[in-house]
Amino acid sequence: MRALVKPEAAPGLELREVPVPTPGPNEVLIELEKTSICGTDLHIYQWDEWSQRTIRPPLVLGHEFVGRIKELGSSVQGYEQGQRVSAEGHVVCGVCRNCRAGKPHLCPNTEGIGVNRDGGFAEYVVVPATNLWPIPDEIPSELAAFFDPFGNAAHCALQFDLVGEDVLITGAGPIGIIAAGIAKHVGARHIVISDVNDYRLQLARDMGATRTVNVKDESLLDVRKELGIDGFDVGMEMSGNPHAFGDLLKLMYNGGKVALLGLLPKDAGVDWDQVIFKGLEVHGIYGRRMYETWYKITQMVLTGFPLHKVLTHQIAIDDFETGFELMASGQCGKIVCDWTG
Ligand code: NAD
Ligand code: ZN
Repeated sequence: MRALVKPEAAPGLELREVPVPTPGPNEVLIELEKTSICGTDLHIYQWDEWSQRTIRPPLVLGHEFVGRIKELGSSVQGYEQGQRVSAEGHVVCGVCRNCRAGKPHLCPNTEGIGVNRDGGFAEYVVVPATNLWPIPDEIPSELAAFFDPFGNAAHCALQFDLVGEDVLITGAGPIGIIAAGIAKHVGARHIVISDVNDYRLQLARDMGATRTVNVKDESLLDVRKELGIDGFDVGMEMSGNPHAFGDLLKLMYNGGKVALLGLLPKDAGVDWDQVIFKGLEVHGIYGRRMYETWYKITQMVLTGFPLHKVLTHQIAIDDFETGFELMASGQCGKIVCDWTG
């Protein structure tokens, strides 16, 4: 089969022939329809410091995908051949304290599909049956392909009650853009989102952000004054940029709630006075709740959530280089690659 592979410990990726994987007793083989490019895939492509520490080539990339079940392992029940599915990208152990307490998103033994084991940038992928998420017929594959980051956005945005609240999101990457849409969907009041990229801020506006801020041109403090509010009730850090995080803490209202999704550098300083004297509630967000987040995002799409607005490019897998270049440029929302064309 064809697969997008990290062949060796160096920058770049290769579309090459590899053997079709065989599902174990509790696994399924999925024939891919579409795979979406994640920021993580770009890191692996570029072979940054994190990738060098984490990735063991050769590896098939990809954890945002949709396809049809081709083969069921001997012990798998409850699924059918031909069924359309996406899959949770975190493979958990099922036996640790958190898994058994119903908090598998906090499993310390988590393995990432397309990170620690071969992924869905391929004609076929094997995943544990427990990771499958069936896709209703009404939802097109180009949207189901990126339920994984949609789930990150939903896990973060639904961590705190947003109804009637003033929300600040730092970072209008695909996840921040979707989070702005969710804040609108559930009834937040002011939804302010910041970035340094006007293309992405426009997407966030289309999604439902009520005020976008390019921090190269405007200060968030001025925008807070313009809105006539003392601070934001809920903050979501979705840029991974320490300056953005520092601004966010400063702009929170006393007693505000902050959800942290963006991956900050290890040496990112924190002004703890902001947290302590304002009594902020700060919550780290990892992955998606299994599988409540998947349930909610599916129902959101079925009830009109405009997920399609963040999908800006659909390309054939042969054009993957173009897709990764676009990702690196930031002039895109989600990019979905097709295996069937
Ligand atoms: P992304 O890199 O596409 O988006 C980040 C955005 O932040 C970019 O648009 C960038 O222009 C913007 N940005 C840079 N500097 C900024 C600043 N000073 N102020 C405001 N915005 C600024 O990433 P994404 O795919 O949307 O993911 C968002 C973040 O979440 C990333 O840091 C990613 O690594 C992280 N992530 C975390 C999890 C998790 O489980 N915690 C899962 C997926 C992604
Ligand atoms: Zn576990």
